[in-house]
Amino acid sequence: MEASGKTSISGDLLAWYDANARALPWRKLPGEGRQEPYRVWLSEVMLQQTTVAAVGPYYAKFLDRWPSVTDLAAADDAEVMAAWAGLGYYARARNLLACARAVAASGGRFPESEADLKALPGLGDYTAAAVAAIAFDQPAAVVDANVERVVSRLFAIADPLPGARKAIRARAREITPESRPGDFAQAMMDLGATVCTVRAPRCLLCPLRAGCRAGKQGDAERYPVKAPKKAKPQRKGHAFWIERDGAVWLVRRPGKGMLGGMRALPDDGWSARSDGSGKPPLAGDWHAAGSVRHGFTHFDLDLAVLAVEGENPPVGEGEWWPVERLDDAGLPTLFAKAARRVLA
Ligand code: SF4
Repeated sequence: MEASGKTSISGDLLAWYDANARALPWRKLPGEGRQEPYRVWLSEVMLQQTTVAAVGPYYAKFLDRWPSVTDLAAADDAEVMAAWAGLGYYARARNLLACARAVAASGGRFPESEADLKALPGLGDYTAAAVAAIAFDQPAAVVDANVERVVSRLFAIADPLPGARKAIRARAREITPESRPGDFAQAMMDLGATVCTVRAPRCLLCPLRAGCRAGKQGDAERYPVKAPKKAKPQRKGHAFWIERDGAVWLVRRPGKGMLGGMRALPDDGWSARSDGSGKPPLAGDWHAAGSVRHGFTHFDLDLAVLAVEGENPPVGEGEWWPVERLDDAGLPTLFAKAARRVLA
């Protein structure tokens, strides 16, 4: 049987899922009913660009502090940003709040259709489809990197990514069933995570092997085909450690842009497009305190840290933060690494 019949692919996959579904904190297993939209949405936003293992504690913490979307909507921005610290991609946390507030403003219920979900702040194609399918059992095609891999292998799609995304999405729509689309979406995710893995896919154990073109050709790892990668630009910047009486000067980054709204050490204005100026925010006897390297999605950053002691704070808003309580400041990973380097 070729990879075509919607019924056979979804039937085989759902039968496999019934026996092999992963128990995840945000998941209702087959037969347990639908998961609450708030939980589906929260977990899906957290899981973007992050691993299941990394998300677990954050998901538990958020649910504990903000058990419903209206609780989250009423939360203080700074508290949410601090609770998110370490998960990365901070625009997601700002969108999370914006979305919670939009849902709360319209009565506290998430809309059910994919199109209405997509109109909410921060919900792209993937998250809208995932919430529609998993929380509301709508036959939406949920395509993340795992599903992209499985579908490109099932149909041996030879065009390289990202150009092939349209064809992959169309195929995903074709095989999404009307019945149990939420379980189907989660089954595809599980298959991609545990069987149809990036390296060494386990085709012999795969419930879809009978209809899989790449599996039959024996060259599954070739898919998805990727266009050659461009080298990431390398940027240079500085962060400034200003310490006085056991406290360090922290600023709040502007709401928009890289690590927006997060607490941080002052820096020299580096960005994805340009190096920093290297200019400290105040005159003083600065000394080198190490450097850290950090990979962002579109560039890598070499951040040198300069330190000074006993000076008045620079002009502009900020706060003295006790060094011994720095773990509670909610610094994003880059600045937490820089702080650790100074204190080492
Ligand atoms: Fe992936 Fe192999 Fe299954 Fe095809 S047969 S879906 S390549 S694991």
